[in-house]
Amino acid sequence: FQNGNRVYKIVMLGQGGVGKSALTLQFVMHTFQEDHDPTIEDAYQKRAVIDGTPFLLDVLDTAGQDEFTAMREQYMRGGEGFLMVYSVTEKRSFKELRRFRETVNRVRHCNDVPIIVVGNKCDLSARREVTTEEGQGLAKEFNCPFFETSAALRLNVDEIYHEIVRCIQKKELRD
Ligand code: GDP
Ligand code: MG
Repeated sequence: FQNGNRVYKIVMLGQGGVGKSALTLQFVMHTFQEDHDPTIEDAYQKRAVIDGTPFLLDVLDTAGQDEFTAMREQYMRGGEGFLMVYSVTEKRSFKELRRFRETVNRVRHCNDVPIIVVGNKCDLSARREVTTEEGQGLAKEFNCPFFETSAALRLNVDEIYHEIVRCIQKKELRD
């Protein structure tokens, strides 16, 4: 593996119901679960070949809609890259991302933590409440990449995990 036993620690963030578990399970196990228990918080390890190089990824699929607790800050401290997920069918989940980002930056004492803005459920076009342009705008404000995904159709799923690893690597080169 790249850098011996180096594990890239990725954390899924976002409001309940946006598809954090669905994306994670598609990436790790190539399955789409309609009814994953929303209270389950779990970590998964996955080998992935990115740009021709093998990597080991540790993906923390967070759960719970409660306020930012000490526990939540604890896993934010351990994470190296964050996938900030909203649902394109729910405006509120989109607006929440600013708060998630502020917390990540505060906890990590850093303003350039590797993050990606992910607009999930793009297959549900009839129920869309957040436009692609709005998603792009937020990513521009955060100075980070942006993807629209569908866990249901397995669209752009590998791409977000590969890209966050690239972002973590770029940050290491900067530091
Ligand atoms: P979490 O609370 O963020 O982990 O959300 P889940 O992964 O449990 O997903 C919540 C619900 O949205 C479930 O019923 C999923 O099947 C559904 N869902 C997740 N991703 C997608 C998607 O890309 N498209 C569609 N149509 N449904 C999705
Ligand atoms: Mg979940």
